[in-house]
Amino acid sequence: MSEPLDPKKYRPESLMMSYGYRPELSEGSIKPPIFLTSTFVFKTAEEGKRFFEVAYGKSPKKADETLGLIYSRINNPDLEILEDRLAVWDQAEESAVFESGLAAISTVLLEFLKPGDAVLHSAPVYGGTHHFIHHVLRSLNITPIEFFANQTIEEVEKLIADHPEGSKIKLIYLETPANPTNDLIDLEAFAALAKRLGVVSVVDNTYLGPMWQQPLKHGIDLVVYSATKYLGGHSDLIAGSVSGSRELVTRVRVLRTFLGNMASPHTGWMLMRSLETLKARTDRQAATAGKLADFLVGHPKVVKVYYLGLLEKGDPHYEVFRRQCTSPGAMISFDIIRGEKAAFRFLNALKLVHLAVSLGSTESLASHPASMTHCDIPDDEKARMGISDKLVRLSVGVEDAGDLINDLKQALEAV
Ligand SMILES: *Cc1c(COP(=O)(O)O)cnc(C)c1O
Repeated sequence: MSEPLDPKKYRPESLMMSYGYRPELSEGSIKPPIFLTSTFVFKTAEEGKRFFEVAYGKSPKKADETLGLIYSRINNPDLEILEDRLAVWDQAEESAVFESGLAAISTVLLEFLKPGDAVLHSAPVYGGTHHFIHHVLRSLNITPIEFFANQTIEEVEKLIADHPEGSKIKLIYLETPANPTNDLIDLEAFAALAKRLGVVSVVDNTYLGPMWQQPLKHGIDLVVYSATKYLGGHSDLIAGSVSGSRELVTRVRVLRTFLGNMASPHTGWMLMRSLETLKARTDRQAATAGKLADFLVGHPKVVKVYYLGLLEKGDPHYEVFRRQCTSPGAMISFDIIRGEKAAFRFLNALKLVHLAVSLGSTESLASHPASMTHCDIPDDEKARMGISDKLVRLSVGVEDAGDLINDLKQALEAV
């Protein structure tokens, strides 16, 4: 039998082709097969009893215990290998995968919030998350308390102190950098606030991904992803994940068993394929984004560019960026001259860049947040977040940088 690799001795990109998988258990196949099975055979009834005790959270797994599989809603080889690999990226003890990012997010929120509680969250958050918190959680008598990503921790503490439900906060939920404006939230400050309040802190790290930001290192308890984005990276799957301590991820995984919202073995296999190239793809995407941002900054039809690589010393976000991000990433937003009409003319004229929402994939995408992903947000809140009719969002893919710049150039000429 091959010796498993020690994850502490290698970079994540070196582990993604083999970690957590033993070819000798699968006919020597270099890639894990897709285990298309609903159920697994127990060797003995005693074994079956023990597997269930652990899976249902009735008794913890012992350190030296290896447990077999039960049923593919509870566990499946493709998901288990994938979860081991995902945990490596955030240096987490454990991960759990879901059939979508929103499934991961909603399961975390449902596990740690109960009727009568309040949840503190940053704004903007992903539209689906916003809807879940403000409609589904509110219908369960869980109160949302919202702050803007560009507010300071002192302002947020005052907001909590003044809020009638402020003492009921049980979970802090953050999205940083904020989509689409790239405003940064200081993770260490909010992790400290969560510790002071004795509550769970959760970060949706989809926008930068574990390559460029690792919230757990800054004291955050759980990190969630839409794996549909950078982790999947090819616009061909929907999935989500949660990573953190064994204790907290186990709680989330037990609820997943009863909601039945785990990813399928096929999706698990596709994500393992994607993780092999995560570093190579996203290094390239980030390098190209830097070139595109430089081009946009100098363009007469562009008023302002929101890109982390343009932060300058003295900007309050600069120090936060230096502390918690290892790259500006591959998301650029910019204000175009005039308003929606000009933005639409630009978007309609693009040839190489696709006009679509989503992000993090191999193909470059452009969208208009105010009328698309953020259309639900009231106008006054949009204004406070800096999401105007002039704003265009770009997700930079792996195409040639020169070809992309030429495409932006010709589309800006059409404005
Ligand atoms: C896409 C996205 C989600 C939702 O993920 P799905 O996989 O579509 O369910 C959540 N958060 C962020 C930041 C996203 O971009």
